[in-house]
Amino acid sequence: RDDRDLLLSRIRDVADYPKPGVMFKDITPLLADPEAFSALTDALAALCEKHGATKVVGLEARGFILAAPAAVRAGVGFIPVRKAGKLPGATLGQAYELEYGTAEIEVHAEDLGAGDRVLVIDDVLATGGTAEASLELIRRAGAQVAGVAVLLELGFLEGRSRLEPSLDGAPLEAL
Ligand code: 5GP
Repeated sequence: RDDRDLLLSRIRDVADYPKPGVMFKDITPLLADPEAFSALTDALAALCEKHGATKVVGLEARGFILAAPAAVRAGVGFIPVRKAGKLPGATLGQAYELEYGTAEIEVHAEDLGAGDRVLVIDDVLATGGTAEASLELIRRAGAQVAGVAVLLELGFLEGRSRLEPSLDGAPLEAL
């Protein structure tokens, strides 16, 4: 409860970013506060352990910032899921729908496989499209989904219900 209040107090609302009518949740004040960032890292690492994750996937770009220290603290590997065209090795790719058009994310094919249980970490769950695509990637790589963990879930966008089929019983944890 105390940690939840601390984390919430370090998230800033920015009106009309990145476009008019959007209230952006800015996590940079939290990253700048070592007490809050450390509490968040502990909470995410605890979720890794709770759900038996053997690897952590971070979603570009803010997901990297949260997932990397959590992976180190939990003693598991960190795997970047990047926007298409950024990874040098052989990749698996997954396209997904945006409000206007489509996007694609990729992972190094050799980073995930049978025997891996993967926790996906991102900062914000909005429509759930990015997380949904990452779960497809993980399953296509032959790995198991341990769950999805986010700092913040924007409930009014109903990402949780969109994600439900691809979670297939795995937990979605919003801190
Ligand atoms: P979704 O695919 O769930 O619609 O969007 C989630 C992605 O967009 C996440 O990777 C997240 O970083 C970013 N995102 C969407 N809205 C916000 C927001 O208000 N604040 C932050 N920090 N990220 C957002």
